[in-house]
Amino acid sequence: MNSCPCGFYGDPLKECTCSPGLVARYQKRISGPFLDRVDIFVEVPRVDYEKLTDDRLGEESKKVQARVTATRTRQQERFRGTRLTCNAEMTPNEVREYCQVEDAAQGLLKAAMQQLNLSARAFHRILKLARTIADMEQSEIITAGHLAEAIQYRPRSLI
Ligand SMILES: [Zn+2]
Repeated sequence: MNSCPCGFYGDPLKECTCSPGLVARYQKRISGPFLDRVDIFVEVPRVDYEKLTDDRLGEESKKVQARVTATRTRQQERFRGTRLTCNAEMTPNEVREYCQVEDAAQGLLKAAMQQLNLSARAFHRILKLARTIADMEQSEIITAGHLAEAIQYRPRSLI
């Protein structure tokens, strides 16, 4: 979605022409319960001409694919013998069982809940995402680092 009706709210180069009230009304059109159902929010800034024409390539798709496959396999092994096949399918009870965070991350989780005023649904989404980030690093325990990464995928500018 755009950040505002004119599309330039938050843009470093071009000024947004919308009034603050208009921006707020526009962003509120997307309801909280809807946003709660989205796993990952990423702000996508404008791309410079230099970047678009840069010949250097990003990470090879094959490497990314191998990482994704290893992560999915890890999840399938974890859930063997259950009805689950991947982290996204976990219910709140299963999140409690499979998404244990290390002691050092408990404070961060509590602070995020309070400061971001998270719903129960958003709370469980963060833990599931943190579980996946830990799986990508082949880590059985969810660390504060994994949790912090998952938290930053919740929307900040919205709401
Ligand atoms: Zn605007």
